[in-house]
Amino acid sequence: MNIYGAIEAGGTKIICASATIDGKILNRIQIPTKTPEVTIPKIIEFFQKESINNNLKAIGIGTFGPADVDPSLKTFGMIRSTPKQGWKDFDFISSIKKHFNIPIGFDTDVNSSALGENNWGAAKGIDTFVYITVGTGIGVGAVVEKNLLHGLTHPEMGHIFIPQNKEDDFEGVCPYHKNCLEGLASGPSMSKRWKLKEALDLAQNHIGWEFESDYLSLAIANYILCLSPKIIILGGGVMNQNFLLPIIHKKVKKLLNGYINNDMILKNIDKFIVKPALGNDSGIFGALALALEAEKKKN
Ligand code: ADP
Ligand code: ZN
Repeated sequence: MNIYGAIEAGGTKIICASATIDGKILNRIQIPTKTPEVTIPKIIEFFQKESINNNLKAIGIGTFGPADVDPSLKTFGMIRSTPKQGWKDFDFISSIKKHFNIPIGFDTDVNSSALGENNWGAAKGIDTFVYITVGTGIGVGAVVEKNLLHGLTHPEMGHIFIPQNKEDDFEGVCPYHKNCLEGLASGPSMSKRWKLKEALDLAQNHIGWEFESDYLSLAIANYILCLSPKIIILGGGVMNQNFLLPIIHKKVKKLLNGYINNDMILKNIDKFIVKPALGNDSGIFGALALALEAEKKKN
């Protein structure tokens, strides 16, 4: 049987899976993200085992960054300036290709999660949409007219600048911009701002959630105005606070103030800004989608 490999490489754990062409996961493992010397052999071992009785056609990698994801670069497939030990300038694609000389797809974890939702989740059949994850960082991936949006590098829409609530004097936690969106609204920003161990310890009626929903709504309104997405998928650890989504629906609608004259915003905003359908599996399905794309393009 033909099978495909998927690697979701996160800062703390790496998930590897084998799957069929139509998205049925056959096997999966989870490995802690240690140095490449320790971690890569485990990835290779998994796929070697999976390919004993099957024909492994392609592998997709959705990775933590920064990473060089532009195929025209000589450094395509490399992790760049990460503080993670051993991973800086590590050639991820070559380390896999050495063992499996097959097409390998490579993109950021957020871009690949967007693709996963596009193929099998909340954005199935939708050609233009935005995927947002609000967790340790804020990552945003955009699919525009069927393609993941890339440019000079890849968009970094989690770092946009938004007006800060007048009552909020927090300086922000982004090491580059301080009070950009990620600096004000990521999980670590919430916990530092309110001196908590975790953002989830904040009571529902705390003003912190007022600020949080303001910032996410402002960002989403900007994405709507810039990209005209047909839906917006909003996930990540912080969005596990289920009361946030309906507040964001109201605030986005108010910010746009009827200017975008479309029923998705005016009447059906609860179907327009939605949770990921694949839950924690958007990333691994996205890596699978990257493998399928790589096979088509013969990367
Ligand atoms: P990562 O971004 O590392 O992939 P997550 O999306 O789970 O992982 O995000 C982790 C962040 O989300 C942490 O800062 C954590 O405090 C926050 N978080 C996790 N669960 C919740 C929750 N139920 N409510 C609010 N914040 C949460
Ligand atoms: Zn920033």
